[in-house]
Amino acid sequence: MKYISETENSEKLAGPAFTTEAGSVSAVPWLPILMYHRVVDGLEGSNPYNLSISLDRFEMQLRYLADRAYRGLTLEELAGKLDSGDKMPARSVVITFDDGYKDTFTHAFPILQEYGFTATVFLVSGHIGESSSWDAGKTDASPLMDRSEIFEMARHGIDFGSHSRTHTSLPALTRDEARNEVAQSKTELEQLMGRKINAFAYPFGGATPWLQDIVRDAGYSVACGIDQRRHDRFNLSRVDAAAYTGALRWRLNVTGTKHRLRQSPLIRRLKSALTAIG
Ligand SMILES: [Zn+2]
Repeated sequence: MKYISETENSEKLAGPAFTTEAGSVSAVPWLPILMYHRVVDGLEGSNPYNLSISLDRFEMQLRYLADRAYRGLTLEELAGKLDSGDKMPARSVVITFDDGYKDTFTHAFPILQEYGFTATVFLVSGHIGESSSWDAGKTDASPLMDRSEIFEMARHGIDFGSHSRTHTSLPALTRDEARNEVAQSKTELEQLMGRKINAFAYPFGGATPWLQDIVRDAGYSVACGIDQRRHDRFNLSRVDAAAYTGALRWRLNVTGTKHRLRQSPLIRRLKSALTAIG
């Protein structure tokens, strides 16, 4: 019965608005876009920035989605739906991986295949086959996927996007430098993959309005940020899936319940009243 009530929810309640390139706004049902980084064997000690999720937890989350008949969309498919204005199929989910860690291939890919989900992986074009030097200082640098691993995943329907050339914080750059990170990585990945690269993810989530313009002008069709109140085409909100180790919070996030509560005028009034009281 749980299954039916969730289906009714997702169809009756309008989700966040998608702003199209033309500026028109169309409400679509809540669409969870999940963000992962590393998938590791065991998770011991600290986990800075929720960078890692254990293999067990990752499998549990995909099983939850598969059991409830969620269907995976790539960001390219999502962009196509936004262009055509077609309704998003009920129970769609977009699964994304940032950085292109080697364990996306060794650990996540087999589970994605087992449960029949596709995904979009954001690669750092200047560091393919190397290590995540940008993690140094927070945690150890980890190995990244090499070309043959990327090609193997692509052969099985995994989609790839850009996560810049060097994984630097883009808002700190000049516009020319940022343009180089955004546009050059697209060119490099297109040469590598022999196909168009349509999706971008902002390193560290930094997505100022001028950066969003640069991403759009570089020819991308969508871009992902981090958790926000709404989906904008060039700053899509993502659920930080590795942060949800408890079943209830995971459920609230993935089904959009948390998002609907955030949009609720009553909750908003309550929040601002509480802020006013201090
Ligand atoms: Zn990253």
